[in-house]
Amino acid sequence: MSDPVASRNLAKYKDLLPTMEKNLPVPDAVKTVRGKESPIRVVDLVFSSGDARKSVQTIAFNLPNDERVRKEKGAKKVLLRNIIKKKFELILTPIGKRIIDKGQVQYLSADGFFNEVLFHELSHSLGPAFTSKNGNKVEVRVALENTYSALEECKADVMGAYNILFMIKRGEFPKTFRKKLLVSYFAGLFRSVRFGAVSAHGKGAAIQINWHLEKGGASFDAASGRFKIDFAKLEAAITALVKELVMVQHHGDKLAAQTMINKYGVMSAPMRQALASVTSVPVDVRPIYPVAGEKQ
Ligand SMILES: [Zn+2]
Repeated sequence: MSDPVASRNLAKYKDLLPTMEKNLPVPDAVKTVRGKESPIRVVDLVFSSGDARKSVQTIAFNLPNDERVRKEKGAKKVLLRNIIKKKFELILTPIGKRIIDKGQVQYLSADGFFNEVLFHELSHSLGPAFTSKNGNKVEVRVALENTYSALEECKADVMGAYNILFMIKRGEFPKTFRKKLLVSYFAGLFRSVRFGAVSAHGKGAAIQINWHLEKGGASFDAASGRFKIDFAKLEAAITALVKELVMVQHHGDKLAAQTMINKYGVMSAPMRQALASVTSVPVDVRPIYPVAGEKQ
């Protein structure tokens, strides 16, 4: 079942993709021109089976993965809205309530989480697609080899937040959405990091958490086990990380990518303590589909 009203509302962001690319915090020569057809559909997942039902339920996906096709035709995005909503209620909310500063828990927002998922997917369509290796034009994915996935997922997360902040400045969202987005984005990283170091999403989330802590975007109080966000510094840290990741991809610099992963993609002490306090929260939800005759 698709939701045409929601899809129409979201389609406007597709038209803004070239504007978002222009707004990236990198030199113009680094910015990429891509295809314009990039339809977004919001669907409620009614039933899935086989591949679609695996241990980590996919909440959004971006096809195709081949950069040549993406450059010519753009990418198609499907967001599974009812799963995103359930994940916010059952996972992100209890995590946020436990690990975010008591005065900032009020900013946890379902809209913040939904839009971060949406703009994560959109951001896979932004940034460098190709680089050069030994004088040949190759996909960034090929140049970065086994470091590509973690770096690309990290990029999509942080660039997603960067683009929503840009949309707030453009008036597409109210100014009051800024704190909601920043808190929901930061808390959301602790949802993803629980997928573990074997997952590109997990490693990408760890890079962001440790980067933001180093830059003062958030600080950890060991006594309460809570993170307090410094909104201005987190915004600056987001911009700096987008720039760093885009430049590594632009240069196809595998060594720089590996250095970043080794330095930031680790289980730091604040992360370990925070994660230990939310072990009772499920890592993921397994959907049951009553419409298809399944029982709870
Ligand atoms: Zn992704």
